[in-house]
Amino acid sequence: MKDRKQVLRGEFDLISRIAARVSSRTDVVLGIGDDGAILRPPAGHELVIVTDTLNSGVHFPESTTAFDVGWKALAVNLSDLAAMGATPAWCTLALSLPVPNDVWLDACIDGFLALAEQQGIVLVGGDTTRGPLSLTVTACGFVAAGTALRRDAAKAGDDIWVSGTLGDAAFALHEVLQGTPCADELRSRLDRPTPRCMLGQSLVGVAHACIDVSDGVVQDLGHVCASSGVGAEVWLDALPASGALAAQAEGMERWRLQSSGDDYELCFTADPSRRNALATLSDSLGIRLTRVGRIVAGDGVHALDGAGNEFRLQSSGYDHFA
Ligand code: ADP
Ligand code: MG
Repeated sequence: MKDRKQVLRGEFDLISRIAARVSSRTDVVLGIGDDGAILRPPAGHELVIVTDTLNSGVHFPESTTAFDVGWKALAVNLSDLAAMGATPAWCTLALSLPVPNDVWLDACIDGFLALAEQQGIVLVGGDTTRGPLSLTVTACGFVAAGTALRRDAAKAGDDIWVSGTLGDAAFALHEVLQGTPCADELRSRLDRPTPRCMLGQSLVGVAHACIDVSDGVVQDLGHVCASSGVGAEVWLDALPASGALAAQAEGMERWRLQSSGDDYELCFTADPSRRNALATLSDSLGIRLTRVGRIVAGDGVHALDGAGNEFRLQSSGYDHFA
């Protein structure tokens, strides 16, 4: 009984530590502190809800700092909202901690709130329990009714585009698992991904289908093709690589890293008539946009090498149960 009391007191102390730091928005009628939050979505909009869990040792190396764990837990969810074209609004955090450690918790919430404030999303609730280190975030955003970006909207003839660069996080993870020191530039792409929120919102009305690249571009594009009833051709040589990655890996090794996952870039399709509009958007947001293939009639994703021959990647992406 005594033990249980200590655990419970710890739980409420931890929740208060979080609640004390959270900001609000005018559309939050009631935030943290009751059995549920009360939220007021804007008229004429639809709610987009996403949820993703990060488990220690699975979704982030155990050596990841508390700040980065907090940041990444929110970032992967914001990336899903971005892929839907939604404007972030509210989120909850279900936290499972092995030990109620204030220092760790404060640093984790620092990372979470740094990104939350940057993107205008507020924490309105959650759950705090004891168990293996794990964070589940649920995030909500808005889209004007009927305008969300979906996986099922690709059309034969569309260009396929990717934001930013691919493969940095996969390279960093490989180095961490080998115990090799990794350039900060690459490690931060693994630990502190940048969700493409503004890009996603700007693609509404411009892009056809959209998905965020979390499990590898070839695999993720496969979901777009299956939902849309089309096929895709991907030009492996065109996949955008950072200078840091290009200096470390080339050819097939680079292609493999670039289709491994954890990139949190957006992959979208758009009619070729949108190329100029997308070039302008890329300039105005300061985000590289690269054309990496095209949607074709048929099915499946065909990854092509520089000579136009189909290239079989050993693994086309990440699968938790494979
Ligand atoms: P209940 O027992 O009714 O589920 P809790 O004691 O779990 O309530 O939570 C109390 C309040 O604190 C609720 O508003 C809940 O949403 C919030 N809360 C709990 N854990 C967290 C967390 N990790 N982050 C944000 N809010 C939290
Ligand atoms: Mg609870």
